[in-house]
Amino acid sequence: MPAALLPAAAFGLVIGSFLNVVAARLPGRMSLAMPASHCMSCDTPIKPYDNIPVLSWLILRGRCRSCSASISPRYPFVEAGTAALFAGVVAVHHADTAALVMGLVLVAFLVPIALIDLDHRIIPNRLTLPAAVIAVVLGTALDPGGQVERLIAGAAAGLVLGLPALLRPTGMGMGDAKLIAVIGLFLGLAVIPAFFVAFVAGTVVGIGVIMRKGMMVGRKTPIPFGPFLALGAVVGLLAGHELIQLYLAAF
Ligand SMILES: [Zn+2]
Repeated sequence: MPAALLPAAAFGLVIGSFLNVVAARLPGRMSLAMPASHCMSCDTPIKPYDNIPVLSWLILRGRCRSCSASISPRYPFVEAGTAALFAGVVAVHHADTAALVMGLVLVAFLVPIALIDLDHRIIPNRLTLPAAVIAVVLGTALDPGGQVERLIAGAAAGLVLGLPALLRPTGMGMGDAKLIAVIGLFLGLAVIPAFFVAFVAGTVVGIGVIMRKGMMVGRKTPIPFGPFLALGAVVGLLAGHELIQLYLAAF
């Protein structure tokens, strides 16, 4: 298994590079393929040798080769983060093909969803809808025995966030409800610790914002919940079943 971690990380670097493109272009309905990557400042197309994940950014010290405009450190971070997540999924799920494949696919959806929610405060249907379809198709093909659990988990999780959003359309949006439903379709019961982690992390950050900005401003500062759901999903993906066992053992 350790031998598989390196190729998993390398694969994650390449996918992460593509997910940066998805996060940048999908909200504006731009093509993911055309045009090729170019500098945001001077429009110069980026040469293949300047487009190597993480490495090129380090070699160029975060600047465009043509115009020296700075390139956001978010790009190499997303690439390195995707690589780490892919290696993590392989480390945890290498013995279970269904969990392995579905875990990698889930990560590939969570990364751009979290980034787009951070940037634009939306969770696009153009990501959650295909993610839901792929979860059901992969789950049915690779692990039919667990499909009922995942369908129930997805529906229940979607309702828990979706009903309040429908009744009182403030704060939590329908995008969040669709995202947690997708997470349930991928993770089954592990959606429970995923939701718990998201809720706790979101609450801690929310309190932090209120403490920094004061009650009046802080309460009105919108905080996108998608990144917290993505964080929770990663915890559920890598440690969900252990967390459920721990919980059950404690009571
Ligand atoms: Zn440039």
